Amino acid sequence: MQKRYLLPALTGLIVVLLLLPLQFAAERPMLLLERLFRGGGYLQIAGIAIFASVMEYNMLMPSRSGWWRRFSWSLFSAVFFLQLTLGLFADKLFLMTGELHLPVPALIISGPLYRGELSVMTLIFLSAVLLSGPAWCSQYCYFGAIDSAVAGKKAPSRPAGHRLALKNSFLILAIAVALLLRISGAGQGFALAAGIGTGVTGILIILLISRRRGKMIHCTVWCPVGTLVSYVKHINPFRMRIESTCISCQLCSSVCRYDALSPDDIARLRPGLTCTLCGDCLAACRHNSITYRFPGVKPDTARKMYITVTVIIYSLVLAMARI
Ligand code: SF4
Ligand code: SF4
Repeated sequence: MQKRYLLPALTGLIVVLLLLPLQFAAERPMLLLERLFRGGGYLQIAGIAIFASVMEYNMLMPSRSGWWRRFSWSLFSAVFFLQLTLGLFADKLFLMTGELHLPVPALIISGPLYRGELSVMTLIFLSAVLLSGPAWCSQYCYFGAIDSAVAGKKAPSRPAGHRLALKNSFLILAIAVALLLRISGAGQGFALAAGIGTGVTGILIILLISRRRGKMIHCTVWCPVGTLVSYVKHINPFRMRIESTCISCQLCSSVCRYDALSPDDIARLRPGLTCTLCGDCLAACRHNSITYRFPGVKPDTARKMYITVTVIIYSLVLAMARI
């Protein structure tokens, strides 16, 4: 086998090995096709593994990586919301647990605080951050894909700083409201209203601000999960660095929709707080001055490792598209 097919083939194989236990071990079928017809789970595993191999092959090429990242992210979001719609209006078997969970990312934080117990979604989120750092906000989140697609229709405006105080305030607010609702014993109706209000505000921010500025304002400023990711991503060893060969031309800033490449960030030779390691800036830099880093390995190896890890986790998240 040619060398360039080796890693994609290996990625597909790992995806198969990780998904097979879902077919055998779970009490209730975890894979959607298995819920639809007997043996369908195997078909789903094969399809996702093939897609993972193709995705890995293309994402390993910097010139194709951006398109494939955005395409696969949008695909996940479409599968997620299609499954939700079918679960609501056609048959509950499309909802993994048979119950509806409000699809608002902030509830990954607020939900467990309100209920006083961890949810499966929170555990998936924490594991994803541990293994792949901020990739949650550039590859796995059903809501962020919408912000990315809407912001992507316009050339990004100049970086406007991280609006740190605002970001932090929204995170604190999400935590405070959840705890207040819990302590006050407010009924589920109030919690539901707060969740819906958060989701609707987020959609308005996407449509009114992200679309106009060509930046993912929903994800980089409003979403409490995005802010949490900005801080906790450092438990993962992958990093993005700007080399000293950088000539500060700022071509990379013009493709970063996460507002992580301000002139100050470039001068400091490291992307800002909101960087999600999406990799879009790599292809934009004509001097190859932006590189992935992982302790003890060369930058190119670090990039391949990061892409492989994110493609594998993406495939698991796609397989479960949990609602
Ligand atoms: S910032 Fe929030 S909405 Fe955006 S990708 Fe991250 S979790 Fe999803
Ligand atoms: S700095 Fe580069 S890797 Fe980080 S978010 Fe911006 S485009 Fe993506």
